[in-house]
Amino acid sequence: MHFRCPALALPSLIFASTITLGQTTQALPPLAIEHVTLLPMTVDCPVLHDQTVTLRDGRIVGIEASTGAKVGAGVRRIDGAGKYLMPSLTDAHVHLENDRVLRMFLKNPNIPTGTIRTEDIFLPYVASGVLQVFDLSATSETVGQRDEVESGRVVGPHIALAAMIDGPDPFWPVGMTRVAATPSDGRQAVRDASAEGYEIIKVYSKLDLQTFTAIVDEARRLHMPVVGHIPQRGRGITEKFFQPGFGMVAHAEEFAQQTNVPAEADIPRYVEMAKRNGAWLTGTLSLDERLLEETSHPESLKARSELRFLTPLVYAMVTEHNPYVAQANANYVGYLRTIVAFNRKLVQAFAAAGIPVLAGTDTPVPGMVAGFALHDELEAMARYGLSNRQVLEGATRLPAEWLGVAGDRGVIALGKRADLLLLDADPIADVANTRKITAVVVGGRFLSRSDLDREMQALDDRYARIRNGGAAETH
Ligand SMILES: [Zn+2]
Repeated sequence: MHFRCPALALPSLIFASTITLGQTTQALPPLAIEHVTLLPMTVDCPVLHDQTVTLRDGRIVGIEASTGAKVGAGVRRIDGAGKYLMPSLTDAHVHLENDRVLRMFLKNPNIPTGTIRTEDIFLPYVASGVLQVFDLSATSETVGQRDEVESGRVVGPHIALAAMIDGPDPFWPVGMTRVAATPSDGRQAVRDASAEGYEIIKVYSKLDLQTFTAIVDEARRLHMPVVGHIPQRGRGITEKFFQPGFGMVAHAEEFAQQTNVPAEADIPRYVEMAKRNGAWLTGTLSLDERLLEETSHPESLKARSELRFLTPLVYAMVTEHNPYVAQANANYVGYLRTIVAFNRKLVQAFAAAGIPVLAGTDTPVPGMVAGFALHDELEAMARYGLSNRQVLEGATRLPAEWLGVAGDRGVIALGKRADLLLLDADPIADVANTRKITAVVVGGRFLSRSDLDREMQALDDRYARIRNGGAAETH
């Protein structure tokens, strides 16, 4: 898909009331961010200096040089001098929590309803500038969470829902995954997911080739993109899974696991398979780095201050009953080390071949924290040899293209959603500068650093009380 540089426009503007985080249904005031350096992330438009960007009704309605720009009365003016405006970020691989998933994930049926508050789950994403996520094991509760965001009742990221389908004896509990033992089961599982409002199909490791083939074919028929694992590890039939409609591999390590020992010599073959098939890659590079770090140095988790933003029950699991740490022995740690080394070579080769690599984290796998982990992933992608522009595109325009919503979001252009990051430093110079968030604009709502810090502090305080044995606050 091709994007042009943003055209000029002068909106007509109307004043409305001010808004705070959590109250999202009021009309938003129009907003002009002036004198800002603009990183539109469109294909053919690198950087625009000294721009005025006008937002109204949740959309970008004006982009023009600040010299000569006329900002109407009643428009809230933000001084963007010395700051950088870019599209908000996408995490293309997460697992959102809800009460039922938590019961399954932690194997504890007694977790009471109301333990997970949707706004608490979303806040770390918003505060980190992540305003689009792909939930790769969405459940019916996630449909409700998505509706809460889209209706404006809760501030949160846009959620693309993937229905996970695995083979018999699935890896995850039924309820998080669907099960298909035959091609006709597979087709029906796809039709069910489509009818229920899921946008993506996630294929998983235990599917047999015939069922996988039927699932991918049915998804293609229903215009649902397919992402997932490469099933039947170690059987020597990797290439057979690369068939039309299998649109993205969910982890770089999937390729490492196609052979008993990660085979770097096979990387050119994997590049060829993916390229020929048009399959993209979500790296989840920082995930494997984190698993290596916490299994070789369990105490490293304590140094990660962002863990306090984990749901308290997940915090307890990560810090006290971490299954990765429990199984850590020299063999496992050594294996993880080979995976990390393999990932680096694979991702370099994919990027060099022009295959899009998306930023994804697999949050909340132990050690990965919503929002924070995405910034770790961006830095890992840059360290592994992607250009800073490739890294940023892999978290903005490209995921929107893969999802088929590029007409609506992913870049800064007229008519696109006003989901933006205002940064204190240039992310093209250093992707770590995406952490220097001075404001997040969510659907045209301007959330300053102090707004975000205040909400995060309140969440931190409440979670700390729960961790220390106090009851959750009532509302
Ligand atoms: Zn995952």
